[in-house]
Amino acid sequence: MMTAQEYMESMKKYNPRIFLGGKQVQLMENPTTMTVLKANTRVYELTEDPQNAEVMTADSPFTGIKVSRNLHISNSTADLERRMEMARLTSQALGTCNYRCVGADVLNALAGVTWEMDRELGTDYHQRLINHLKYLQENDLACSGGVTDAKGERNKRPGQQEDPDVYVHVVERNEAGIVVRGAKVSQSGAIGAHETIVIPTMGMKPGEEDFAVAFAVPNGAPGLTYILQYTPFTAERELNDSKYLGNPEYGQRETCIMVFDNVFIPWERVFLCGETKYCGKLISRFAKTHRMNCGGACKVGFIDLIIGASQLLAEYSGVQKTPHIVDKITDMIRISETARACSVASALKGSEEPAGSGFYQPDDIFGNVAKLTVAEGFWDVMKWAGDIGGGLAVTMPSEKELENPETADYVRKFMRTSAPAEARLRMAKFIQNWSAGLHGAGTWHGAGSPMAQKMALYSLTDLESKKLMAKELAGLE
Ligand SMILES: Cc1cc2nc3c(=O)[nH]c(=O)nc-3n(C[C@H](O)[C@H](O)[C@H](O)COP(=O)(O)OP(=O)(O)OC[C@H]3O[C@@H](n4cnc5c(N)ncnc54)[C@H](O)[C@@H]3O)c2cc1C
Repeated sequence: MMTAQEYMESMKKYNPRIFLGGKQVQLMENPTTMTVLKANTRVYELTEDPQNAEVMTADSPFTGIKVSRNLHISNSTADLERRMEMARLTSQALGTCNYRCVGADVLNALAGVTWEMDRELGTDYHQRLINHLKYLQENDLACSGGVTDAKGERNKRPGQQEDPDVYVHVVERNEAGIVVRGAKVSQSGAIGAHETIVIPTMGMKPGEEDFAVAFAVPNGAPGLTYILQYTPFTAERELNDSKYLGNPEYGQRETCIMVFDNVFIPWERVFLCGETKYCGKLISRFAKTHRMNCGGACKVGFIDLIIGASQLLAEYSGVQKTPHIVDKITDMIRISETARACSVASALKGSEEPAGSGFYQPDDIFGNVAKLTVAEGFWDVMKWAGDIGGGLAVTMPSEKELENPETADYVRKFMRTSAPAEARLRMAKFIQNWSAGLHGAGTWHGAGSPMAQKMALYSLTDLESKKLMAKELAGLE
């Protein structure tokens, strides 16, 4: 398997066309793009650590070797549980994305769907996918996942859009492969992955064959452009030594618009092309695993960090035993542990899907509830973190003042409590990163906007059996 250093070294071979804040930047040189590479490096490090072997690695039945769990297709409920534990562990260690999470869940969704397609249609998509998976596993490559299209007007189907490019679609088929055009948006860490695995963002209907396409594309392939998010945190990183920032090493959850301007994909990397009937299954299986992992367990890791920081700030200012502070910390723990319990239940109540394939998918209801619990609960957690830390989280001076001879003594004198000013300012900055930053909306929409989970939950629930139970007990016919 690749070491952390080998991963960093391997990225030197890529030269993706990246734009940030209106300028072209180099992957290995820019402070913001470097946060993605550093986060990936940390995930390779966690994988190397024998202590994490159960969670971070798995035995591949396809290659017979130990592989990163980011490239493993779950084949038991125990596997699913370890997968969700990987999400929790990486979030605790990074305070940002495991940028390989979407890719892992896309590969799992593709495994079952291509297996079915080959059986039902006589295609060879599954064999192609497994060949590609073996290549990824043998080289221990990092994969991001491209699901979300630009989508244009949400009330129109792909073919009804004024500009069809708002959904990634096939513009040419030839003997060697296909040519695709369009864009995937909000792409986490695509710049730091060796490959991106692309699937449609939703179910497709007859007549939408060109939009029904799944494939693997290497980083920086000709025709690809990455336009990065630009936020106040980007500007702050550009202006400051990273040690003064809320998440010094790994930064924000960095995403981009990934533009496909006539990108050629050889057939051996195409895993679905035109089979509209299978797109719905593909996205719903992806959603199942992703809601358990990214929607639930990953944010449990984030909340653990916020709880730790809030408790520290309470101790620094001497309010840690005050009943309402204890109550707020307890409520944060409740939200975190409820979401974790739903993710664990989702894994342990998972099942083989499709039957006979040997591939496992989590329970849908528990996965959706995990994501919904987090989506709603994260706002509360941020609110309480803001409360416990006091106004400092948004009114604090820069830690740089401690190096300024004109202000250092004042800041040291007035910012200290039982803890020195350095510790208070650093921890308040950490909280600012969460509760006055990008994580609220990010947690709400990541792994799908909550309305999608509510619709799933409502339609998955057997209301008839519940009605019957109530009628029987009430003595109604
Ligand atoms: C931090 C972050 C990281 C992400 N990383 C990735 C990634 O790595 N890969 C990836 O593929 N995606 C990623 N995403 C994208 C994520 O999956 C989407 O944000 C999510 O699916 C919502 O889509 P959207 O952003 O286009 O929102 P919109 O579709 O614009 O939704 C906005 C609102 O409109 C509603 N709405 C949308 N369509 C309809 C409709 N047809 N009818 C009724 N209501 C509608 C929604 O429910 C919501 O209330 C990421 C998102 C975030 C925030």
